[in-house]
Amino acid sequence: MPVEEDLVTGCLFCRIAGGELGAEKVGESEHVLAFRDIRPVAPTHVLLIPKRHAAESAAELGAAHVELLGELFALAAKVAKREGLDSGWRLVTNVGPDAGQSVHHLHIHLLGGRKLGWPPG
Ligand code: 5GP
Ligand code: ZN
Repeated sequence: MPVEEDLVTGCLFCRIAGGELGAEKVGESEHVLAFRDIRPVAPTHVLLIPKRHAAESAAELGAAHVELLGELFALAAKVAKREGLDSGWRLVTNVGPDAGQSVHHLHIHLLGGRKLGWPPG
């Protein structure tokens, strides 16, 4: 799965999706990859990304991404079940500096395995 965007941008998550950089994979579907966050903030902290650089963040999403979003959520639910998060879990996607987005390749955080505070910080 060579990702052309990687050649141009050196995008970290494109490199992981392309197998150029290692990650602990926990699930995969046709267009989506799930792997553990390198700096987990909860006992389960998994990132779900489109394999292709479909969008930099949720701010760019529209009707063209409906199927991809369904696939992202479906894999999240599957991983949550496999991780045994029966008492609850959370999906988060950070957009822009105020939310602390640090990687500009669309991704969803799956968090669980502890009580998650609300509202988030
Ligand atoms: P953001 O801050 O953009 O919402 O989320 C990016 C996430 O990527 C962070 O939680 C960060 O710990 C994670 N991350 C950064 N570099 C790597 C890496 O090389 N491998 C993995 N598995 N996660 C990474
Ligand atoms: Zn990318």
